[in-house]
Amino acid sequence: MTDHEDLAAENRALRARMAWMLEQAERNHDIMMRHQAFDLEIVAATNFPELIGRIFGSLPAISELESVTLSLVDEGDDIRTVMEKLGVDFAAFPQLLFVPGIGQLTLGTETKPLLGAHDAARDAHRFPGAPPLQSVAIVPLLRNRRVIGTLNLGSADPARFTPSLGTDFVEHMASIIAICLENVISNEMLKYIGLTDSLTGVFNRRYLDRRLLEEIARARRQHYDLSFLYIDIDHFKRINDTLGHQGGDEVLREVASRIKGELRVSDALARFGGEEFVVLLIDAGLDSAAFVAERIRASLAEPMIELPGGVKVSITGSIGVACLAGAEGEGPAEAAATELIAHADEALYQAKAGGRNRVVRHAGR
Ligand code: GH3
Ligand code: MG
Ligand code: MG
Repeated sequence: MTDHEDLAAENRALRARMAWMLEQAERNHDIMMRHQAFDLEIVAATNFPELIGRIFGSLPAISELESVTLSLVDEGDDIRTVMEKLGVDFAAFPQLLFVPGIGQLTLGTETKPLLGAHDAARDAHRFPGAPPLQSVAIVPLLRNRRVIGTLNLGSADPARFTPSLGTDFVEHMASIIAICLENVISNEMLKYIGLTDSLTGVFNRRYLDRRLLEEIARARRQHYDLSFLYIDIDHFKRINDTLGHQGGDEVLREVASRIKGELRVSDALARFGGEEFVVLLIDAGLDSAAFVAERIRASLAEPMIELPGGVKVSITGSIGVACLAGAEGEGPAEAAATELIAHADEALYQAKAGGRNRVVRHAGR
């Protein structure tokens, strides 16, 4: 070989190496850009379903993983209960797993990621419905040094996650996800607090006023009936006088739970204030609404729970029923809502005047 040929071969090798490095650099740059875009995408999520939808929708593709799931610590089922009440459909997110305590995360209080071969006994429950996995990363989600859950990454490639691999990258990803999760969860909690009555846990007036407008618009579009029940406990002042305010509160909680027991999930129950409750019945005419109201009246008149100290009281309630027939589609929804509530209130007044413990229907226009 001549010197010239030597040089040419060396040159070719160098060029090939350069090309390979460039390709790697471009690939890394590409991965970094995709992850940066992902960070921005999840930071912009404004509510819980949007956030987890984006995590499960984007992360498997940009990270080229077979399965991505989240395990969240949810002591006392608080997160799940609130989200369900706000209408989150968990069936849409099978990758979202709840555990009742830190102990059920396997990692325990460990704050370092666990990388390595997939271990069916340890990991199978974390990746429901995933294709066969060879390696996993279980990355703790940390907020103020507290473990709030884990981000679970599963790959079909055995070399993807190995114990010797650096963990900076997955830790960074998990820290962004943890911040976003905590942020949307506390937002949803605030939203929930703003829409519910703290004494009974049912919706408050603010929620119902808003919901009523939405339901009126929908009922008009789809031509079905909406009915409204106005429920007021009879002689509640006496209950308070006999039991004290706290005893009265206890009775109100029981009242809310009894009313709820007579409703369908699509119906909305709210405490309007004091000892007044209202129910919005979707797709129910005056007859079926009066039927439900009668069931509620009977259930309230059943023997009351025993209160602390062994005191037993009995209560009754009066109920006014009004209906907005599906065909009535004139004018602004606000006016229709005000009128519907006023009609139920008038019927309630008649129930009181007629002797209480009864259901009265509004006669219509
Ligand atoms: P009526 O049969 O005419 O409805 O008689 P009532 O005594 O129920 O009369 P009214 O509706 O005017 O009074 C409601 C009472 O409910 C007044 C108040 O002392 C009591 N109340 C209002 N809010 C609360 C509450 O949050 N807790 C308790 N324990 N009592 C409340
Ligand atoms: Mg009242
Ligand atoms: Mg009353």
